[in-house]
Amino acid sequence: MNPRIERIRQLLGELDAESTTAPRGDLGFSALELPEIIGEIVDDLQPILTAYDAAFYWFLFRHSIAKDGNPQIRVSRSTLRRAVVKSSYTDAEENMISFGKVQDTLRALEEIGAIQKLGEPNRQGTLYRVLIPDEIEACRKNRAERIADETELFPLPDNSAHRKRMQVFERDGYKCRRCEKQLTRFTATIDYVQSPHEGGIDSPENLITSCAECNTRGSSKSS
Ligand SMILES: [Zn+2]
Repeated sequence: MNPRIERIRQLLGELDAESTTAPRGDLGFSALELPEIIGEIVDDLQPILTAYDAAFYWFLFRHSIAKDGNPQIRVSRSTLRRAVVKSSYTDAEENMISFGKVQDTLRALEEIGAIQKLGEPNRQGTLYRVLIPDEIEACRKNRAERIADETELFPLPDNSAHRKRMQVFERDGYKCRRCEKQLTRFTATIDYVQSPHEGGIDSPENLITSCAECNTRGSSKSS
């Protein structure tokens, strides 16, 4: 073997290894937030997934957000094919699902908006970002319908502060009304259109979803 080719191989390997250490996600999740996120995956995401989609999503979730709070994960098709689920179509000793099924499932999850491809594949696989129900439009729609049903069955007091916040977030689609940034209930804040100093009240019309940056900017400019 030509030693220079050997050296190039080695360098390529090192480069690959470096690019697998994904940058810390744009948002991380803390362990305290996990129970709520898991509840919402079961309530709002799972009902709109097929059994395969759900198995893949839970696998990706478990190895990203549930592992260290980072929503990014690099994963290869061969890992997914081996690790997630067995085929229901074959009794073969090694009854892995097909590469095609893995590909279809990843594509379906991307179409739903449950995962996002962040780059082209390398030898360790493809970098994905795993999204939580707050960030997935289809989930928010499903949630709105579910909450409407639940309030009929179990009416909640309208004055609860938590409920009021959630209604504002839901109405604004978890987007900052000032800079349009997509937020989650963990990063979204409530801001006033007209501040209480200027006589603004806590009515839904006077409350908007805001990111932390715009919220700080907004309140400092009001003089
Ligand atoms: Zn903003």
